[in-house]
Amino acid sequence: MNTRTAKPLILALLVVAVLVFPLAVTSNYWLNLVNLSISFSIACLGLNIVLGYAGQLSLAQAAFWGVGAYTSALLTTWLGWPVWPCMLIAFIVAGLFGVCLGIPTLKLTGHYLAMTTIGFGIILQLILINAICSLLLLTWASIRLKDSRVGRAFLAVQGNEMAAETMGIDTTLYKIMAFALSAAYGGYGGALFAHSGSHYISPDTFSFDQSVVLLAMAVLGGNGSAIGAIVGATLLTLLPEVLRFLKDSYMMVYAAGIVAVMIFMPGGIAGLVKGLPFALRLRAWWNAGSAAIRQVAVSVATRDGVGGRPIPAKVASGAESNGTLLSVKGLAKHFGGLKAVDGVDMEVRRGEIQALIGPNGSGKTTILNMLSGLYVPTAGEISLEGTVITGRKPHIITAHGMARTFQNIRLFGELTVLNNVLIGQHCHSKAGLVPSVVQPASQQAEETGMRKKALEMLEFVGLRGKEFAQANSLPYGQQRLLELARALASDPKILLLDEPAAGLNANETETLIDLLFQIRDQGITILLVEHDMSLVMNVSDHITVLNFGKKIAEGAAEAIEKNQEVIDAYLGTEVGNA
Ligand code: ADP
Ligand code: MG
Repeated sequence: MNTRTAKPLILALLVVAVLVFPLAVTSNYWLNLVNLSISFSIACLGLNIVLGYAGQLSLAQAAFWGVGAYTSALLTTWLGWPVWPCMLIAFIVAGLFGVCLGIPTLKLTGHYLAMTTIGFGIILQLILINAICSLLLLTWASIRLKDSRVGRAFLAVQGNEMAAETMGIDTTLYKIMAFALSAAYGGYGGALFAHSGSHYISPDTFSFDQSVVLLAMAVLGGNGSAIGAIVGATLLTLLPEVLRFLKDSYMMVYAAGIVAVMIFMPGGIAGLVKGLPFALRLRAWWNAGSAAIRQVAVSVATRDGVGGRPIPAKVASGAESNGTLLSVKGLAKHFGGLKAVDGVDMEVRRGEIQALIGPNGSGKTTILNMLSGLYVPTAGEISLEGTVITGRKPHIITAHGMARTFQNIRLFGELTVLNNVLIGQHCHSKAGLVPSVVQPASQQAEETGMRKKALEMLEFVGLRGKEFAQANSLPYGQQRLLELARALASDPKILLLDEPAAGLNANETETLIDLLFQIRDQGITILLVEHDMSLVMNVSDHITVLNFGKKIAEGAAEAIEKNQEVIDAYLGTEVGNA
């Protein structure tokens, strides 16, 4: 059946089935258990956001769960408010607590809270129907989130925090956002728990141990998978009931089981299922209809025709005005007694390719790290287009128009090639948390535009057709090209390249040289750190030479080649090494 027509039908059937379920179950025992599973599932969906998406360990989930439970219970019992608005408030309040995550474990001492017993099956069923609706909605939200600008930023933080920062992602902000969201989910789960027929809630219910149990549920289900989180939570809620006959040895069997899962199934249940041929085929079929990407892919292919490499979307700036783009004065970086960079002055002119060369350990990478904001200089000033950027955070500097690649490739290896380049566009896109989930027309337009541009970038570096490959599955040379595409995706005015030819074969180096000229012809200025001297001499308009953290020469390629000090310090040894 066609995915387009089948998908809404399947989803509708699923919703009806789960909604009918509570009416079919009449035993209070089972209603309670299912309710408990859902309460845990929602808390685990939250953990999945903070841990599975953003890669941050949260050991306070039970506390947020407790905050939600108390908030909702107090509002309903003291103020007599209706249950549903109170649960929403619990969601928000727990989220706010998440923002203040400085408090690692929340202590709710002294307040034992008696709850009116809700023992009547009919009320329990009503609560359950609502619980299921919430679960569906919150699952839907967290799945949508994963494949959006905000979700990708979370994944980038997990994948490589340093690279995420230099791609323009405010990693601190996104970590707080993930914690807040996780806490809000936790709080909602807790509120549900408070109303689901348990007789009372007490601080003991929200202990550190409970956080660990929630964590076990999320890990069992599978890190990063929303459905996995629900499966894990449900299994571990039901398991104690099933294992009840074991009595005293129960905890041991339970613990041994969890350890076994961690050892033998590191990807959790979701990881196990994902790899099965059946699951792969189902996923491909499910995605077939929705992938706006395919439409974009087709339109790009037809528009550009065969052969011609499209040009990356243009960057403002005139290659014609040869003023200074980047200016560095008295730049220094000391590590303890080591003067890795020691008072360097340097100017990079707009529209040029400038090389920075020198022996190993002469401070080249350290300079790039200061320029891109990863290191705060010990002394000196850096300005980009006249704006002083010294010591600013990497994501701010990226937004000012600087992009970079790394000497040791720093891709988001677990993510697709396409997602890597989409993350590169982070600072030129806007969608916040709510639009990322709700996905209104404006967000969809932005997303389509980003995908289109990402494919153009991949075409430019010759990686079209690889967009759905996992980044770390690419051969080494292609990983370098992908890093270049990702950097270009941020529309930089200046591109810093740290040994882009390292590890490339002769053909790949030729391709790189060709790309460097094309990039420069686009008006993008390049600062190149490179050991391949023929490449450097071939492409550079201007060369700066470092030795022991100090500038020892600068000038045009021909002059540098003949400079005796440079030959003694560097070129001589290069020839010797070769
Ligand atoms: P290059 O890129 O020119 O090979 P680097 O800039 O990587 O050189 O390193 C310059 C010097 O600074 C080296 O001696 C290196 O060991 C040292 N260095 C670089 N980063 C650090 C750091 N984070 N902590 C301590 N020493 C460092
Ligand atoms: Mg280096």
